[in-house]
Amino acid sequence: MTRVAFIGLGAIGMPMARHLAQPQFELSVWNRTADKASEFAESTAARAAATPADAAQNADVVITCLPSSGEVREVLEREDGLLGAMVAGSILVDCTSGDPAASRDFAKTLAGRGVAFIDAPVSGGVVGAKAGTLTVMCGGDGEVLERARPVLEAFGKKIVLCGPVGSGHAVKAVSNALLAVHVLSTAEALVALTRLGVSAAVALDVINASAGRSNASQNLFPERVLTRAFPRTFRLALLDKDIGIATKLASEAGTPIPLIDLAARLIHEARVELGEEADHVEAAKVVENRAGVTIQ
Ligand code: NDP
Repeated sequence: MTRVAFIGLGAIGMPMARHLAQPQFELSVWNRTADKASEFAESTAARAAATPADAAQNADVVITCLPSSGEVREVLEREDGLLGAMVAGSILVDCTSGDPAASRDFAKTLAGRGVAFIDAPVSGGVVGAKAGTLTVMCGGDGEVLERARPVLEAFGKKIVLCGPVGSGHAVKAVSNALLAVHVLSTAEALVALTRLGVSAAVALDVINASAGRSNASQNLFPERVLTRAFPRTFRLALLDKDIGIATKLASEAGTPIPLIDLAARLIHEARVELGEEADHVEAAKVVENRAGVTIQ
């Protein structure tokens, strides 16, 4: 039986971990707010661990799903953290949407202890996590990924090796930069059309059968903006972090990406305006406020 530890039962971590509460895995979970881990353990066969080290002891695969690489470093290095507890031959799979340079650093430190590392951020949102249909983009060694694959398959449908350590995080950051551009540009388009007297529902119906469509126009805006539901599934603060990683990577590589740079500035301003708990789609509200128009 594969022993799995899951660290971080947040908006997406919780539904991912639920898929690992199956007979073929011996699952232990740790969460900073301990109540979430004990509630999870009560409703599954998992064990709620007292510390990250307690969760990781004897685990074959440890999964982290935390806001950013900063929190992953904390959970690795704290006194009762993963570094001191993970055993040689085990694998750390970081499902955080993290920073490639930090991941290369983690991989090096862990390798010194005989522990393998892959970055494996996910896409598909809370809906995909609940359905077990996430896309998992991996960075690391192919042989290590094959060992971890049965665990990733519990919540992932499309699992792709993107390249060496850090590649999964790079692809994720760039993909979410596109998400940010799509949310902002779709909001701008609908604000303009609303002002011109075209109903947003009619406009989306046409756009979604035309070349301007995206996941934002096909799913996010009809379900969340037109309904004014704005459910909180993926924090704007996390999207700000992701697009920030993308702009940093491009700048380090000397690649001009002016459109994404502008989107990063607008997303950051929206975060400052709406706060740390706002959902990413709420960035549309900032576009509306600036134009003095509600998309309808
Ligand atoms: P949340 O903010 O909902 O949850 C964050 C988790 O990290 C919680 O379990 C929280 O614990 C824990 N945490 C925060 N700070 C610390 C710390 N200093 N030490 C230990 N644990 C900490 O985030 P999500 O679940 O939404 O996102 C997790 C990752 O997945 C992020 O990198 C995000 O970008 C990515 N992602 C999210 C998606 C989504 O739809 N939500 C989609 C795709 C990727 P506590 O319960 O105590 O607050």
